[in-house]
Amino acid sequence: MFRYVSEKGKIRVGMIKLPAFYSFDFKNCYYLIFRMLFVDTALSMHTACFICRDKTRPLREVKKKDIIHAYTNHKIFIKHHARCCDAHYDENGFIRKEEFDVIPTRKQIYDQQMIKMFDILRPTSENIFEQFQKPDSIEENLCKKFTGLTKMQFLKLSEFIISLNQNTKRTKYQLIALYLYWLKTGMNQKDLALIYGKNVSQRCMSRYLNQIRFAIHRDFVPLFLGAEKNRDFYLRYNSVMTQSLFDLEDDVLVLIADGTSCRIQKSNNNSFQYKTYSGQKKDSLFKPFIICCADGYILDCYGPFPANDNDSKILNYIIETDDDLKKILLPNKTLFLIDRGEYS
Ligand SMILES: [Zn+2]
Repeated sequence: MFRYVSEKGKIRVGMIKLPAFYSFDFKNCYYLIFRMLFVDTALSMHTACFICRDKTRPLREVKKKDIIHAYTNHKIFIKHHARCCDAHYDENGFIRKEEFDVIPTRKQIYDQQMIKMFDILRPTSENIFEQFQKPDSIEENLCKKFTGLTKMQFLKLSEFIISLNQNTKRTKYQLIALYLYWLKTGMNQKDLALIYGKNVSQRCMSRYLNQIRFAIHRDFVPLFLGAEKNRDFYLRYNSVMTQSLFDLEDDVLVLIADGTSCRIQKSNNNSFQYKTYSGQKKDSLFKPFIICCADGYILDCYGPFPANDNDSKILNYIIETDDDLKKILLPNKTLFLIDRGEYS
């Protein structure tokens, strides 16, 4: 029997079951009291489930992530050898969120220092994509760092995207930020899903990226790429330098065509890997192909093409297949500027 200070600050006399690591010492009594904390503790036994007290069903040991979740969200301490039956786990092997509300508990004393460890282990709840939920909460410098666009550019791009269904789990702004971040970093989808949080799996991430890619391709790209405008529009982008260098008349359209190589990861798909491996550069590559006007106005970006196709083969293919481009290429009134390439 000894005195201890209750949570309300009154001194009471009573029996306290001390954890084994405290040896009782009158001199250090007060010091001991102030270091201790009463915490709701799950009643765990080795032979019974700590949620439903069942002893007949097979039991599994609780995971570390569940222990941290129980303390940070429900202020319940679960001992690390506690066991519970399979019925309480979800498909990912974690205890279902609603089960935490029905765990029977009893107040027990713990060392403050130990409980503080939970605050250190607590995962940071505010993730970066949360602030992209609404346009008002986006921070200017973070937007630039994250998407490569200023906030104004980002919102302007978002205005174009109208065909995307939004829900509470992901808004259009979040998906656009996610997609731009992915393009910027080239991160794999598993890691991206981890950063995004909210229990999003890699498959789900793949679906998100697909949705936003289609939406951008449908709502945004046709307005800025493609040779659908009339020939006079593109003639405005001829530069004075090219005209005087090649001694051209005003109605000659100058186009510059060039392909480039981008590195990609090795693929397990054999035929795909064969198409993308470049023997010259000894790496897996794909080739986007750009056609632009003399002053750099991009007419269209074609591709991706296999790594082994050379620029002239690609250009022939484009001229054959792109009907819009064919319309603006008048014979004897068009000049294509092409480089010979490094190896061809
Ligand atoms: Zn159970």
